[in-house]
Amino acid sequence: MMHRGRSLEVIVSAEIRVAAWAQLVEPGRYAVASVLAELIDAFCEPDLALPEVYELLTGAIAATAGTPSPRDLLPRFSLRLLEMLGLAPPLESCVHCGRPLPAGSAWLDAESGGLVDCGCKERWRDLPELDERDLENLRALARPKRERAALRATPAAAAAIDELVAHHLGKRPKAMAQLGTLGA
Ligand SMILES: [Zn+2]
Repeated sequence: MMHRGRSLEVIVSAEIRVAAWAQLVEPGRYAVASVLAELIDAFCEPDLALPEVYELLTGAIAATAGTPSPRDLLPRFSLRLLEMLGLAPPLESCVHCGRPLPAGSAWLDAESGGLVDCGCKERWRDLPELDERDLENLRALARPKRERAALRATPAAAAAIDELVAHHLGKRPKAMAQLGTLGA
């Protein structure tokens, strides 16, 4: 309701029509929403408008409120966030030599911020392996909506995204620990 004031319109009352907050008090959803908030807080500069990231966050909050398995939303959210900030790894080429990744396996080298091919995988290091399905899943998770995007991650792809986030953040998000204790 607006009231016509002398120089400006005055809002005299408002009614909430759509809000996700009522669903977010459920502990599993609250923990996931805390991770979303922590990642945005950690990765984004104050006062720097990033409309694409804002849209990603509001979409993720609405999805968190509406799903029985909110934790499944985190890998895609995290990878899309890294992508929008220019931090996502190249998913088609080796981060060391730049050659296109051959079909089949690749290995995650989170410290280098990307994937490595068989030739560059240092044998004495125990890098997590991603098979062809995991790689295709990672690529589909990174795509924008409606471009054959994937919404759910394979376990290996989800673990790889967690490692990449921890690498760029310099630590694991605190809210992830809370999520772990909930088993959500
Ligand atoms: Zn290589």
